[in-house]
Amino acid sequence: MMSSETERAPCGKAAPPPSPQLPRGLPLIDGQLAEPLSPGRLIDAIDPSTARTIIQFHACGRADVDRAVMAAQRCFESRAWRTMRPLDRGRLLERLALLVEEHREELAVLESLDSGKLLGITRAIDLQFTIDGLRHYAGWASKIAGEYIQHSPLMPEDAVYRAYTQRRPLGVVGGITPWNFPLGQAIQKIAPAIAFGCTVVLKPSPETSLTTLRLGELILEAGFPAGAVNIVTGDGAEVGAALVNHPAVRKIAFTGSTATGQSILAASVGTMKRVTLELGGKSPTIILADADLDRAIPGAAAAVFANSGQICTAGSRLLVEAPIYDTVIEGICDIARGLKVGPAFDPATQMGPLISAQHRRRVDSMVGNGLAEGAVALAGGGAAEGDGWFYKPTVLGAVSAQMSVMREEIFGPVVCAVRVDDPGDIVRIANDTPFGLAASIWTRDLDRAHLLADRIDAGTVWLNTHNVLDLAMPFGGHKLSGLGHEFGNDAMQAYTEPKAVCMRLDPGSMRY
Ligand code: NAD
Repeated sequence: MMSSETERAPCGKAAPPPSPQLPRGLPLIDGQLAEPLSPGRLIDAIDPSTARTIIQFHACGRADVDRAVMAAQRCFESRAWRTMRPLDRGRLLERLALLVEEHREELAVLESLDSGKLLGITRAIDLQFTIDGLRHYAGWASKIAGEYIQHSPLMPEDAVYRAYTQRRPLGVVGGITPWNFPLGQAIQKIAPAIAFGCTVVLKPSPETSLTTLRLGELILEAGFPAGAVNIVTGDGAEVGAALVNHPAVRKIAFTGSTATGQSILAASVGTMKRVTLELGGKSPTIILADADLDRAIPGAAAAVFANSGQICTAGSRLLVEAPIYDTVIEGICDIARGLKVGPAFDPATQMGPLISAQHRRRVDSMVGNGLAEGAVALAGGGAAEGDGWFYKPTVLGAVSAQMSVMREEIFGPVVCAVRVDDPGDIVRIANDTPFGLAASIWTRDLDRAHLLADRIDAGTVWLNTHNVLDLAMPFGGHKLSGLGHEFGNDAMQAYTEPKAVCMRLDPGSMRY
């Protein structure tokens, strides 16, 4: 994923960062791009590759959240929205997909500038996922279906009952997204909400709001009804919390850290909001002794070093069976030492920066804690040179189950290597974590692959691959990795709720 998808300049020289069309930096509220009610507070959008400010954009306040939610509520209750044909809701998403496609290169460049993700990756993965996501959910809008239910045997024999369920849209959805897949995450919240008949107020991460703000401009161009999609910017403690606490918001669709997810769950109790929480992970990459190591070693490296380890499903614990442990660790360390770490727009770069100085300090202090507890840095283990927030791809050995590096999500390019001496221990070690987001198993043995997959406590298990998402596959976490699922049929459950309609038919009316 990393080296093969980046393009090399003919002379291998770093090109200066391109200057894409920048968004106006205004929130989208009630069908308009307008300055917040409390203007003057600005947020710096910083390029993590250079630590330079790209642009400043407006921070919203509580009053703006209220305006956005009330606009979404008015739209949801309007006759125009209630009676809009599902196919026409789908066409709104399709129109947006066409506009994103038209602006694909501009958005890819903006995403790389704002997040530090490699341009080859934002082009090939983030933008493709965004366009595919819009089209996937556009198709769902016309496929919402309830059930027909045969009358219950408990009913008296002289009565005839019929019942059916409708899937009703929940209402106003508050979407809250993290910084690691900004545009893709925005679409993951907006597209199902619209497809299933809800309206939405989205709050992107203050660290990567630019592509979501630009998306807001394209949403206006696509002709969504005023209030159907609103975008408010700002920090979590004020703007995110205002969305979570707003009584007119019926559901929060959140992706982010487990700690924030827990606080959202607690805050939702009073209004009994529906919540879906896509949270953190500490996913194991499991390499069995019979694995094809030509695939497993680069696969395990990509599992943790792609996007500089800032992927919720990153394979951050590497479990390797004893007979191949030394070979695998040598291979992963060689890859770690050889990866070219650098700016997102340098065609030679294979791994980009971390998102911020603060996050790099956090990653480094977690590695430092691990070393203090007895872990050994087999490769990397510290900041890498450059103006941006670079960190060396790091492999830690001599780790034990209770160390903080083994239990906490680092969200950086750091993998803990564990030698598994007894095959009977694999399941226990893999599941010995408070998280349960994902796992991968690398083997040629079909029986072991599927029997192990049965017993790994994780929302997704990959066999001989890692970090592959598909909108048709349900996605969500077990244990502290989340609550509820997104994507596919599960998204319909998440954005609608059933209403049962039951009728009694009078058998006496049968005259023939
Ligand atoms: P974060 O929890 O700090 O922030 C996520 C979002 O929540 C941001 O928009 C933030 O402003 C907002 N927020 C913060 N405090 C809030 C509050 N009290 N109320 C409401 N909103 C609040 O997460 P992050 O650092 O932006 O992202 C990294 C985390 O996201 C990692 O833990 C990663 O595993 C997780 N993640 C999970 C998935 C998944 O699908 N499971 C995908 C991507 C990232």
